[in-house]
Amino acid sequence: MNDEGVGRFVAGLRGNVIRPGDDGYDEARRLFNGMIDKRPLLIARCVDAGDVMTAVNFARDNQLAVAIRGGGHNGPGLGSVDDGLVIDLSMMKGVRVDPKNRTVRVGAGCTTGDVDHATHAFGQAVPFGIISTTGVAGLTLSGGHGYLSRQYGLAVDNLIGADVVLADGTFVTASETENPDLFWALRGGGGNFGVVTSFLFRTHPAKILYGGPIIFEMSDAERVMRWYRDFVTKAPEVFYIFLGLQSVPGGDPFPREHWNKKMCVLLVAHNGEGAEQAVNAIRAELPKPMIDWAGPIPYTALQSLFDALYPAGQQWYWKGDFVQALPDAAIAVHLKYAAMASPGSAMHLYPIDGAVRQKRPGDSAWSTRDARWSMVIAGIDPDPAKAGDLKRWATDYWKAIHPFDMAGAYPNFMMADEGEARLRASFGENYPRLAEVKKKFDPANLFHVNQNIPPAA
Ligand SMILES: Cc1cc2nc3c(=O)[nH]c(=O)nc-3n(C[C@H](O)[C@H](O)[C@H](O)COP(=O)(O)OP(=O)(O)OC[C@H]3O[C@@H](n4cnc5c(N)ncnc54)[C@H](O)[C@@H]3O)c2cc1C
Repeated sequence: MNDEGVGRFVAGLRGNVIRPGDDGYDEARRLFNGMIDKRPLLIARCVDAGDVMTAVNFARDNQLAVAIRGGGHNGPGLGSVDDGLVIDLSMMKGVRVDPKNRTVRVGAGCTTGDVDHATHAFGQAVPFGIISTTGVAGLTLSGGHGYLSRQYGLAVDNLIGADVVLADGTFVTASETENPDLFWALRGGGGNFGVVTSFLFRTHPAKILYGGPIIFEMSDAERVMRWYRDFVTKAPEVFYIFLGLQSVPGGDPFPREHWNKKMCVLLVAHNGEGAEQAVNAIRAELPKPMIDWAGPIPYTALQSLFDALYPAGQQWYWKGDFVQALPDAAIAVHLKYAAMASPGSAMHLYPIDGAVRQKRPGDSAWSTRDARWSMVIAGIDPDPAKAGDLKRWATDYWKAIHPFDMAGAYPNFMMADEGEARLRASFGENYPRLAEVKKKFDPANLFHVNQNIPPAA
């Protein structure tokens, strides 16, 4: 790679390229996780599929490591790469809702908030995650679960098609009828197969839900967790509750007397008839909460409820597991480690049953259709000096709880140091097929800055 070649590359793009020393380089390379500090050689801010094709060809022809960046939210920072080329899609923000056919076409640089805003006007939504600043692309390609997943499935279960730039620089579309093997792999297999430039999703009704946090004292956590494990198995699919063990944030709007107290929180979201009565029924079964803010709430408000608590730039270290059951002994482990958590850290159990179970393991790359929860243990703190402590706490917690859990985890809740066995466990019987699809579409493993599935031998 010489200056002349770089110059031709820059001139050939409609978007701009940011290099070390340029104004805005530090801003452009910054990732959501402040623990990760990468220094790419080139950040190509692509504005269309043509730019992406040019960038892929340039990276391949110059043997540059290439990272694909959607929202930049990835835990281990796999949206960037040291000394390589970042294909930054954040400028590709178009969203077009088709209310008649109940679909939405989404540019690869959209956050979930961008899409929720557009679909909300039509009383529709796609099941995405719980923070509106997360990128649609990275979230979807590894699965994507959130408040609507028990009712409507994972984000990938609602993907109808995708436009993709492959490692050889060609542009294809993937759907059930076009390149079906690629489409199968994109629905859970992450960024291994190409650069998705736009997604087509099915949308579903979700306008005003009944939901919000109901927060309990830690002294009631054991009772709440036992109630919760039984409740989830019999709850209707319109009723989603995720459980968190964390601390009450030390600031408004939380009542001062509860600031920084450890808590057990139920994040409730009911998107059906009789929502208030259903939530009242669980209120009657549960201990008296210290805070109860559940009520009628627009879907977009629910989706961004946590945004302010999790600004970009904090230190994050997380580990996850798929979970089938929550025996008393596992609850005891959770309570032990939750008691040792730093004020920003959290353990969440996100239900992935209900509609997620309507698909079979082989229907898409996401194979785990028999788990009840996707669990994450997240060590979080604004202070870089705490990085080691966060990692130790999350790892010790995970080692203690993992024997109760399934072997695999949601790849979006893994750091970069989990090892191939964990990824194989997460994809189960789909792993060999994923490796074959990888071999077909990216035989030289150009796209390896991800939870990597090497091409089959
Ligand atoms: C605060 C927070 C809350 C979260 N909550 C949830 C949640 O509720 N539900 C949930 O499912 N997940 C959740 N996640 C996890 C989230 O889904 C992942 O972090 C995901 O990787 C973020 O996607 P991104 O596009 O922002 O990431 P990026 O860092 O931009 O990209 C991550 C990886 O995705 C791949 N990729 C990105 N764009 C493309 C593309 N266009 N084509 C091909 N590959 C691409 C690449 O391999 C890249 O390395 C959360 C994360 C955070 C930080």
